[in-house]
Order: sequence, then structure tokens, then C-alpha cells
Amino acid sequence: MAVFGLKEIAGLVNGVLKSAADLDSSPTIQSVSIDSRTIADVHSCLFFALKGVRHNGHQYIGDLYHKGVLSFVVCEPIEVHKYPLAYFVKVEDSLDALQKLAAAVRAKYDYPVLAITGSNGKTIVKEWLYDLLHETVKIIRSPKSYNSQVGVPLSVWNMSDQFELAIFEAGISMPGEMEKLAEVIQPTVGIITNLGEAHQENFSSLSKKLDEKLKLFASCDSLIYRKEQDLVTEQIGQTYGKGDKKLFAWSTSDETADLFLYMHPQAHSTRIQFNWNGREYELNVPFTDFASLENVGHCLAFIFSSGYANDSVMAAFSQLQAVAMRLELKQGINNCLLINDYYNSDINSLTIALQFLKSQSMNEKRPRCLILSDIEQSGFSGSELAQAVNRLLKVYEIDRLIGIGRRLYLNRELFVAGAKFYQSTEEFLTNFRPAEFRNEHILLKGARDFRFERIASVLQQKYHQTQLEVNLNNLVENLNRYRARLNPETKITIMVKAFSYGSGTVEIARALEFQQVDYLAVAVADEGIELRQAGISTPIMVMNPEEHSFEMMLEYRLEPNIYSTEVYEQFDRAARRMAVSNFPIHLKLETGMHRLGFSSADELEQIALRVPREGRLRIQSVFSHLAASDSSDHDGFTKEQFLRFKKLSTPVVANQPNKVIRHILNSAGIERFADYQMEMVRLGIGLYGVSQSDALQAETVARWTTVISQVKTVAAGETVGYGRKGKVTTPKQVAIIPVGYADGYDRRLSNGAGKVWIAGRQYPIIGNICMDMSMIDVTGADVQAGESVELMGEHIRLTDLADWMGTIPYEVLTGISQRVRRVYIQE
Ligand SMILES: *Cc1c(COP(=O)(O)O)cnc(C)c1O
Repeated sequence: MAVFGLKEIAGLVNGVLKSAADLDSSPTIQSVSIDSRTIADVHSCLFFALKGVRHNGHQYIGDLYHKGVLSFVVCEPIEVHKYPLAYFVKVEDSLDALQKLAAAVRAKYDYPVLAITGSNGKTIVKEWLYDLLHETVKIIRSPKSYNSQVGVPLSVWNMSDQFELAIFEAGISMPGEMEKLAEVIQPTVGIITNLGEAHQENFSSLSKKLDEKLKLFASCDSLIYRKEQDLVTEQIGQTYGKGDKKLFAWSTSDETADLFLYMHPQAHSTRIQFNWNGREYELNVPFTDFASLENVGHCLAFIFSSGYANDSVMAAFSQLQAVAMRLELKQGINNCLLINDYYNSDINSLTIALQFLKSQSMNEKRPRCLILSDIEQSGFSGSELAQAVNRLLKVYEIDRLIGIGRRLYLNRELFVAGAKFYQSTEEFLTNFRPAEFRNEHILLKGARDFRFERIASVLQQKYHQTQLEVNLNNLVENLNRYRARLNPETKITIMVKAFSYGSGTVEIARALEFQQVDYLAVAVADEGIELRQAGISTPIMVMNPEEHSFEMMLEYRLEPNIYSTEVYEQFDRAARRMAVSNFPIHLKLETGMHRLGFSSADELEQIALRVPREGRLRIQSVFSHLAASDSSDHDGFTKEQFLRFKKLSTPVVANQPNKVIRHILNSAGIERFADYQMEMVRLGIGLYGVSQSDALQAETVARWTTVISQVKTVAAGETVGYGRKGKVTTPKQVAIIPVGYADGYDRRLSNGAGKVWIAGRQYPIIGNICMDMSMIDVTGADVQAGESVELMGEHIRLTDLADWMGTIPYEVLTGISQRVRRVYIQE
């Protein structure tokens, strides 16, 4: 790990070192952080206060100082005397400083550095190269897909002289970004995986985006690409054809390429033959799909062109596994919460997984348990590893450690007391007692070789096979897309009513709290109480408050929507009984929906005067709801609603001693009427994947799947299901799936109205949907029991399902029953 004096760092990043203390005794820096929640070693950590559109690291400086952090890089003015022991490096731009520091770390080492960019496959190529080569050469690589302006410098910071090869991936979404990453990575070898449409919105053409990507390779001695990618090949020729860079093109169709791979597809694998320096090679890889084979090709090209080929590397190709780059959150046995991550195991990715664990168990008092495999960190001694792990256990407040693997076992004395160790996954499973795991948050973090999925299967609660996968990355991506439509200072409420539109309550709220949304909104008090009991501290608004729950609401800080003078008086009485003052409430105004809300200006005026006078409550916001924001037929009406809202709310706002927030836009409103955003908006369905405009294109968040229970042949003349509705005129293959209307799989999908997706194709439902089962006509398909079935997701779109059912996406999502287990995915 890099160690720098803070003075030296100030010089490297063109900053000015400031402190109220003695500048000559400034600290020595051993780690860097950009996240105030995850600092381990307070004394030797340098915190970079980054400034984004919605995030400003400078606001955490006070807190961090109290926790003992002493060193900061800042780009805003700082009152140094307020922090007598701290040291500040003042720069123009903190991100630029982080990149400059990483570039200085990089420049210290002269082993090969491979940089990978491209639209798809970057992380897989990086991980496969690690799997193939880690016995041959000591490798440092980016954790997960840390490939951004921030992720790359944090990855590079970990370089040290214990390694012999570095592999970093670089991703861009905007012009101008790649040059900066190139300066940080200074690669000696490059791979461009392929070129697709990802992040195209910020580039005027594919060719412009490619130009930007190719800037990564300016410093490279050699550059690897696939010859069939015409645009890539052509543009590489133009950009680098004249220089002394070795251009290494591999191909499956052109025998004159630098490496020609002859690929023979088999049933479940592919045989690859090629010739290198006069020697014939043949190997088998367990993939048949195009994307995997392209990734294999890049790995082979790198391994041969860089001289790493040997017998054990070649043998490892047949062992390559699909890379599951995601964390899964599931319900475990005995009321445990289980987070699975069996992707790899090194200090960086362990830190990321622990951060996720922490984000999911913030403020909650359930103990945290880490089940950890041996760590693949070449160049670390046993005691250095133990030290690093112990530090993380402390920072992330892990209550117990279960270590699995020979290396951890041999060093077991070095870990905090109370930890348990097993030499192998088998030994753990042999000794497994379910009662030992109770009411805990469990993180399963293991290298792929340890096959921790076997542990997951004993710790997982056994439900039936139908599940709803909720992709938290896409949820956050959607949040950011809507945020990008808003002014930076506009606040955002997220509607988490109705079990967050079917996707879950606490897990979703935690993810949103981590994203620092301003408000959560629930329908009824019970939903809010559940969130508070789980430790959610974000302000919560209750849309339909009921009188019997008012005292509970005050106790749990749940803020009511007040829609009439009567409700105001009831809530105010509860406030008096509970002796609270200045408690926030939200006034709902009626502007055309004709649901709940104040419609009389006089009544509203009375309330506006009473609230500050009576002092127990405070008008935190006034709002209204649009009836048809998604429909251009009604744009005139929407505009009228907005004007009415403005007119009604203005006198209320003017008469309060505090600043009152105004809000009227829902998801479609944000997309179509951004001018009406005022001080806050309320995002609902868009977050969960249904957007109005092509420009925004919300990502799919929920994927509903099941597996085939049985496949049978039904003879001509027979019928399928209740009421004999599924008539069979020619012999049919019928698959039975364990999902029915009791799961929310609507009966209106019966008799061919609905379809499911199995192994690459859609198949219709035959007969009536039953309570717990449905039948699918799979005639002519080669499908078997156990095969996975998508009911809704990437292929069967939520909007299609809604159309087939004759309803709207809202009803589909909220109708998926609670017995369908929810699984949360984080990539
Ligand atoms: C549900 C709800 C929303 C969110 O609407 P979407 O169409 O899902 O964005 C906003 N405001 C109120 C008052 C709601 O009840």
C-alpha cells in the first residue's frame, strides 16, 4: 500500500497545506476515502471532500473531525481554526486532486498495466484474466466494476511493489472523461472489448464515442481488439496505425489476423483451435454464447501476446465460470437476513460488500455476522491479512466472524476473540446447526472456488420457487435519471406506499435512505411504523392518516397529510395530548382530482392562520396531485390544476414563519412538466421502471420468475384445467408452473391472453389459471422440469402484462402477493 506524507501529497496535487497545528508534524497517509460512512483508520486516512450536483463531501467534515479524522482535501473555503488538530490540503478541484494522487502512485511501478474499456464485457474479461493467471503472476485488479472517474483512482491507489501485473477497467459516459482516466492508469497494454450503444446519449455518434475511448490507450505499447469490429478496426488504424504501437487483432474469420481462432460449437461448450508460434493449441470452454466467446477471445489474445501462456493457464480455460457480479439479499432461516456475494474475495470487494451490509442494516440492532472465505490477496502475509480483516470487522461493527479455508484457519489466532474457523466449506456444512443462526444479518463473502452457494442454500429460507427479483442498481439508476430532470436544489419524495409498489418495504427504504432522498411517503401509518422500527430515519409522510393512529404517528415521527379542517383539529388534539410542538404536517389541496383535499380558499386561510398561532404543528409543505399528467389529451387541464394550486397555496405559504415546500408533480409530471417542479416532487411508478418518455427509459426493476414443475404430453381431444377451457385438438406438450392467481398472476391471463418466456421464446398460457398453478403450451419446445420461466422482466414487459390483463402496471405490481419471495440484487 502507498504511504505518503501529507506535505508530499499537497505538492503532488498542486494544493496548499493549511492547519492551525504545526505544519511540520502533519500526518502520514495510508488510505484514502471519499465516503464519510466507511472510514477505517481515522488517523492515517485522507478524506477527499468531493462535490457533485447533489452531494457535497464538505458537509461531513465536522462529523469526521469528531470521529478523529485529521486529514482532508477540500475545494471550498474552510475555517481552519474550527478544527485545531486537522490538516487541510486546499485545491481547485478535489476529484482532480484524487486523480493526480493516483497518477503519482501509478508512476512508482514499472510492471505491466492492462487497461480494458469497451461497451460490454470489461468486468468479465478482467475477472477471467484473474482466474486464468493468478497462479502464474501476482495481480492487482479493480474491485467489481470500479471503472469511473472516482472508482479508477481508488483502484489504482492500491498498487504496490508486491504485484507483477495490474488490470484496471475504465468506463466513460461523457466526452472528456477518458483522458483523465488515461493519466491515472497510464496503461502499457490495452483491450477494447467492443462498441455498443451504452452511454450513447452524451455522444453525437458512435465514432465520436470510440474516439474518446481510444484516448485511453495513448501510452500503450500494444492494443488488443477483435478484427470483425469494423468501426473499431478502422478507427484504431487511423488513430494509432502510424505510431510504434503494436496493434494486435484477433479474429474468428480472418486467417491473416495476429491470432486466428477456429471455434467449433458443441452442445454445451465450444472447442477452440489455434496456432501460435508454430505450435497447435486446442482447448474447450464451457460457453456457447457469442458474448462469452468474444470475452474468451480477448483473454487468449492478451495471454499470448503478453507471453503468459503455459499449460496450467490453458487448462484453466475449461474451468471458467460465468461471473455473478452481484450481491443478493434474501430472507434467511430463523429471521436472519442473508447477503450473498460469492464473486471473489479480496480486501476491496470485501469492503464493498460490508458497505452494502451496513446500508441494509443501518440503525438496526440485529447483530452482524460475516462468513468469509480465504482471501485472494497475493503479496499479503497472514498477519497483514488478519490485520486488514480485523480493522474492517471493527469499522463495520461485525459481531462475529466465521472464517473458512486453510489460510484463515492457520492464522486463526490472529483474529478477534470469538471467531470460528473451518478448513473448508465441507467442514462448515458437516458441522452446520441452523439454531446457531438467529435474528442476524449474515454476509456470505467467498471466492468462487469455495462454492459458498452451498452454504447459502442451507441458510436460505425455503419458499416455493416463484420469486420477484428486485434490482437495486436499476432502482437507483432510475432515481438518478429522474433527479437529472430536476434542479439540483429540488427535493424529492419517494412513494413507498403499498409495499413500495410491490417491491418491498424496508429493503427499498434503506436503499433510498442511502441515496439521501428527502422524504418517503407511505399510504397508512402501519407502513411508516414498520420503517421506523427497521431504523429508517428519513422523514416520512403518511398519505391517508387515520384518527386512531395519530398518537402512534406522533411517537414515530410520521407526518400526516392533512386534507380538511376536521382532520387538522383531530391531529392537533393528539398533539396537545402528547405535548409536542412544531410538529410537521402537510396540507393537501384539491385542484381537480376530486379526492381528498382542501378546496375552499377561506377554509385554507383559516388553517394557515391557526397553525402558527397554535404552535403545536407546523406546515411543512402544501401539495396537490395531478389527475392526468401522463396524457397529452389533458395537458390543458394539467396546466389549470397547476395554476389553481399556485393560487391556493400562495397565501398559505406567505403566512407561515417557516419556509413551506410546495409540490405537485408525480413521475409522469416530472417527465412532462419539469417547469412545475417547485420545491419538491413525488416520484412513484417511474422509480419502479415505468416511464412515459423514450428519452428517460426507466430500467426494469422487478423480474418475476418461477420454474417448471412438470412437462407432460396431452393427447388430442383432451382438455386442460378447470372448466375444460384449454381444448387440445392436436397433441400438445404442456408445462405446469407453480404460480396462480393467489400469487397475483391474474386470472385474466388465462387461455392464451398471457404469455411467459422460457429459454429464448414466448409461450402462451393454456386453459384457466388456477389458484396456485398455471399451464403453458410448450409444444415443439425442448424444455424440461426445473427450467426457469420469466413471468415478467426483460422479455415479458410489465406494460405487456398489464395490457394482457386489461389493467395498468400499478395494479400488476401491487397485486403480486406477499408469498412470492422478494430477492434483492445489487451489482
Ligand atoms: C401514488 C402517488 C404519487 C406517485 O404517483 P406515480 O404516478 O406513481 O408517480 C404521487 N403523489 C400522490 C399523492 C400519490 O398518491
